[in-house]
Amino acid sequence: MKIVVLKFGGTSVGTIKKIKRVADIIVKHKKKNDKVIVISSAMSGVTNELIKKSFEISDSFSDVEHDVLVSSGEQVACSLIAGRLIHKGYKSRSWLSWQVPIITKGDHKNSRIKQINKKKIIKYLKEGGIPIITGFQGVNNENRITSLGRGGSDASAIMIAKFFKARKCIIYTDVEGVYTTDPNKLKKAKKIKEISYEEMLEMASLGAKVMQPVSIQDARLNRIDIEVKSSFTKKPGTLITKRSNIINNKIVTGISSTQNDSKITLIGVKDKPGVAAAIFKPLSKNSINVDMVVQNISANGKETDLTFTIKTEDLKKTKKIINENNNIKFRKLLFKKDVSKISVIGVGMIATPGVTFRMFQTLANKKINIQVISTSEIKISVLIDKKNIKKALIALHKEFKLHIQK
Ligand code: ASP
Ligand code: MG
Repeated sequence: MKIVVLKFGGTSVGTIKKIKRVADIIVKHKKKNDKVIVISSAMSGVTNELIKKSFEISDSFSDVEHDVLVSSGEQVACSLIAGRLIHKGYKSRSWLSWQVPIITKGDHKNSRIKQINKKKIIKYLKEGGIPIITGFQGVNNENRITSLGRGGSDASAIMIAKFFKARKCIIYTDVEGVYTTDPNKLKKAKKIKEISYEEMLEMASLGAKVMQPVSIQDARLNRIDIEVKSSFTKKPGTLITKRSNIINNKIVTGISSTQNDSKITLIGVKDKPGVAAAIFKPLSKNSINVDMVVQNISANGKETDLTFTIKTEDLKKTKKIINENNNIKFRKLLFKKDVSKISVIGVGMIATPGVTFRMFQTLANKKINIQVISTSEIKISVLIDKKNIKKALIALHKEFKLHIQK
C-alpha cells in the first residue's frame, strides 16, 4: 500500500478559510491514487489559549488534566477538516489518538509515542477513507490522555509515517521550507532544496524553528524522508533526507544564530578534578541550559579561568547559584549580556579542510571579535557581540556562497 502522511501545522489550519484550502490539498493527494493519512495540529493560538485558562484555574494545574485540556484543540481542527472533506463528497472521519489507539509512554505533558495500532486505520484506508488523526496526543497504559510536548504534532506525523511505512511525510507549515539562515534576519536567505537530518538537527536546535528537534531525530533513526513546504503556495519545499541521497552537497549548508545569550567567566578557579562538575551540577539541577563552555589552560597549574554561555533570562539565577555554591572557589565572576552565537553548519566540512579558517578570516575582515569558539564534526560556532550579528551573517552568507542554491 502506497501511503503518504500529510501533517498540517497550526497556522495552516488557523482559520475556516485555511481549513478549506487544506481540504483541497488533501484531495489533490488523494487523486494521485495514494492512500492519505492526515495529522493535524490545533488551530493556531488555541493551545496557548487553553494553557492560559489552566493557569487561571490554578498555578499548579494538574499535569493529567493539562493533557486532557490541551489535546482538545486538535480534536476541533480534525473534525473541521474531516467535515469539509465529507462536504466535498469524500469518505473521511476524525480519529482521536485513543481511538486508533496511539500508545505513549513517559510523563504527562511530555510523553513519547511507543506503539501505534494500525489495524483499524488500514481497514479504513482500504475502504477508501481519509483518516484525519489528532497530532500532539496519545493515550497511556492507564487509559489516560497524554500530550507530546509543545510542537508535538510533528512527532505524531513522523511516528505515524514510521509505523505505517509511509512513502513520504509532508509537513505543511507557514514557511516555504528550510532556509540557509533565518529570512527574518537576512533578506538574502535562500530556500534549501535538500538537507541531511544531521544538518537539520543542528539548524533546528539552534533556532531555525521549522520542526520540533526530537521529531527530526525520530525521522533520522527511521530513515523517513520529510518534505517541509508551505500550505499557501504551490512551490516545492525542502527535502530532509539521509546524507547519501543528497547530490548537491555544499561545504556549508546553513548559518544559524542565537539571541539573548549571556557569557559568564569565573576567574581563578581551582584547577583540580571535579571542579567543573561542582560548578555545573547545581545549574543543571535548576534547569539552566549551559551552552558553550571553554576552560583556559592554567599557566601555573593551580588556577584556571572558565567561561560559559547561558540564556540571558537565566543570568540572575545563575549568578546567585554560583555565588552561593560552597563547593567551588574562584576569585572573580565576570559577566556580559548581549552576546550571540553564530554557527556555520554543513556535512561538507567533514571532507573539506579550511572552513574554520575561512570563517575566522571573514569575521576578522569585518573587525568582529570572536570571544568563544566551539566546534563539532559538522558545525563551527563562535560567540560575538550581539550588535555584530547582522554584519556577520551577511559576510558569512556571502563567503560560503549560500545565495547561490542550485
Ligand atoms: N498544538 C500543539 C502546540 O501548539 C502541537 C503542535 O502545534 O504541534 O504545541
Ligand atoms: Mg506547531
